[in-house]
Amino acid sequence: MSPRRERAATPLISPSLAHQVNRSRVLQSLYDIGPLSRSDLARLTSTTRAAIGTIVQPMIDSGILVEGDPRSSGATGGKPARPLWFSPSGPPIAAVHLMPGQVDAALVSTAGDVLSTSTGTFLPDTRDADTVIDCVVDCLNRVLPAEGAPPLGVGVAVGGMVNTDTGTIIKANLAPVLSGLPLGPLVSERVGLPVYLDHHPRAQALGDRWFGQARGVHSFASLYLADVLGVGLVIDDTVQRGQAGAGGEIGHTVVQLDGRNCPCGQRGCWETIATDEWLRDEAATLGLPAAQTMTTGSLARLAARQHPGADELLDRFAHNISLGIVNLQQILAPGLFILHGHAIAGGDTFRRKIEDHVQSRVLQHAAGPPRIVLAEANDHATVLGAAGLVISHNLKLIA
Ligand SMILES: [Zn+2]
Repeated sequence: MSPRRERAATPLISPSLAHQVNRSRVLQSLYDIGPLSRSDLARLTSTTRAAIGTIVQPMIDSGILVEGDPRSSGATGGKPARPLWFSPSGPPIAAVHLMPGQVDAALVSTAGDVLSTSTGTFLPDTRDADTVIDCVVDCLNRVLPAEGAPPLGVGVAVGGMVNTDTGTIIKANLAPVLSGLPLGPLVSERVGLPVYLDHHPRAQALGDRWFGQARGVHSFASLYLADVLGVGLVIDDTVQRGQAGAGGEIGHTVVQLDGRNCPCGQRGCWETIATDEWLRDEAATLGLPAAQTMTTGSLARLAARQHPGADELLDRFAHNISLGIVNLQQILAPGLFILHGHAIAGGDTFRRKIEDHVQSRVLQHAAGPPRIVLAEANDHATVLGAAGLVISHNLKLIA
């Protein structure tokens, strides 16, 4: 017998399911492009304006969408178009980023506006799982609205290995109390809302896809580079999770035989040469100032002032980061790589160095060279990604 889990049968398309899929495609167009009129939507989805009307009117009536002010229909005359967009008074989404010792929660609108935030802390070495659940629930209760439309659900991004099928955290090295904790079902029971849980970089990728620089992009990679390294991959509009969320450990693919020891037990993992720890060790060896608190941002500033050795170290770090990106590009060709975390402060100089190393190593293809971009400096991508988990579940297009 194969050890593979059986998949649920795929249902045939009933009229109600067809309506649900069509509704999702309309919403997807709005997320991908922005506010659109009924005529725009009809053109984009190859249907009639009347057919679009039957899809969007129930969403306007139930307060999910709202029609904006009329805009000119141009020289052709005719009825002025009214763009449709997500209603600010529509049902919001609760989002949680769970880190070792800290919880960030937010209430997010369906349009991706962060409406309110709260933060809580717990002792990372606590052995009492209830204190963690209490902390998450307290943070959520501070952002959940007392009145108005009930939230669509809660998305939780976790810095650790997760089982996305059961909502359980499998392993979190920096906070052992989280290991084995069925956080999703426990929080769901306390707040009375559906809870969707995923690994932090995969949620971050959804933040990029729904609300960030990957809007309308079907394949890309979202990297988190700081004290740890994580990558969320979206290929053909599907977040790559592997079985029950076991995938996504690219930081522990070996890029250096007999390299540095990694906390995972192997040697020479990509993570051992592409995080802050490597940078600080090398900065200390070179005698650079403030080596023990060095980040990409402070190193880039030293390099800009032409401090001896700084630009060379920045380039070596960019080279180290490029190795894993090249491997991803050669295997799956996401084409676009979005950098989050401390990499953002490295600025365009650092971005360009990584891009140059990547482009010089990948094989040329008609699809064009892979691009590296920086996430916005005001980076809400993780809580937005946690909110994106709820949107994905509701739309079931980008899952
Ligand atoms: Zn490792």
